Amino acid sequence: MSLVTNILVTDDEPATLETLSAALEEMGYRVTTAVKGQEALALIRRQPFNIVIADIKLPDISGLKILEIARELNPETAVIMITGHASIETAVEAINEGAYAYILKPVAMSELETIINNALREQRLLIENRELVERLRQSNKRLEEVNMALEQVSQAKSDFMAKMSHELRTPLNSIIGFSEVILSKASPVDQATHDEFLNYIHVSAKHLLHLINSILDLSKIESGKMSLEPSEFDLAVLLEDVKITVLPMLATKKQTLQIEMGEGVSSIFADEAKMRQIFLNLISNAHKFTLTEGKIRVICQLETPHVLHCSVIDNGIGISPQDQQRIFEEFGQVKTSPNTRRQGVGLGLSIAKRLVELHGGKIWVLSELGHGSTFTFSIPLATKGGA
Ligand code: ADP
Repeated sequence: MSLVTNILVTDDEPATLETLSAALEEMGYRVTTAVKGQEALALIRRQPFNIVIADIKLPDISGLKILEIARELNPETAVIMITGHASIETAVEAINEGAYAYILKPVAMSELETIINNALREQRLLIENRELVERLRQSNKRLEEVNMALEQVSQAKSDFMAKMSHELRTPLNSIIGFSEVILSKASPVDQATHDEFLNYIHVSAKHLLHLINSILDLSKIESGKMSLEPSEFDLAVLLEDVKITVLPMLATKKQTLQIEMGEGVSSIFADEAKMRQIFLNLISNAHKFTLTEGKIRVICQLETPHVLHCSVIDNGIGISPQDQQRIFEEFGQVKTSPNTRRQGVGLGLSIAKRLVELHGGKIWVLSELGHGSTFTFSIPLATKGGA
């Protein structure tokens, strides 16, 4: 309803109508009048009124009909019946049917004014209530959304815990199983088997340590406790250093590593240790998922003067499009490569992703099954002053 208070007055006595209308206009209301009941109904159907004042006895229709239609079209309309002593019973019936009040003829203006003021106050309260309920509904909806997001987080945590327990159990079972065989007095093993089993135990223990370290890294990042410690360093020097670290690993599969630095890439301002870990994770994946004598390349170049792009490229087994969607998730290993699966713990890429994101960057993969993969990350280059 509009801010202006619209009142419809209907009475078959033109004099009464005139007096009421003049008095109400004097009070500041916008008044519409109707002498006939049908005329009043037509007006009600055309526009909403805050207040309808209707004589209970009209020549063409009953005031009760006006009440019924007015309330049906707009339940908030307050209908005030004007009644003589003779029709007071009908007026009481009107109240039961939802009329706001009735007033006896001759109408005392002060009494009518009080009734109108009360009706308008109740209408305002009703509107305020409705707005409050709507606001409450909106907040409830937001709460539900937050709840749902929380549930998803909690579900993700449970999934993570389940996967983690599984990953921990596998090497532990292997350690327990092989050590039990070695320790068994009933059926002693020969020296060669003994050494072989000890080696399995050693590999499983190392895997376990790697897994636990990765989980610790991840939880440190997740809890927000890992912060950037940027410094200025030469990227080429860092990559040479990384190369020295990975060369023994690459040598086991006779793989080569080529580092290419684009023009202008020299000193950068970033977290050196975290950059090293990103490269190590990507290169060790390239090593794991590339066959003997495979070629690995690292290319770093400036995409713009302030954005560094680094790619780790291999000519290995590649990743199918559907698997590319999930490999950055925790334990998001590719199920179709069981022989290579055991080599990793499935956290390297999610750690690399988070470390890149900590730098404000992003990481993605381009790959084709059987034709190798290119993992690229881009990071905005901060300046020493922090700009
Ligand atoms: P993992 O410890 O298994 O290497 P990651 O999170 O580093 O865990 O990698 C997740 C999975 O993504 C790997 O198990 C592998 O299936 C796939 N993947 C990662 N890097 C490569 C790559 N260079 N070539 C092919 N597959 C890869």
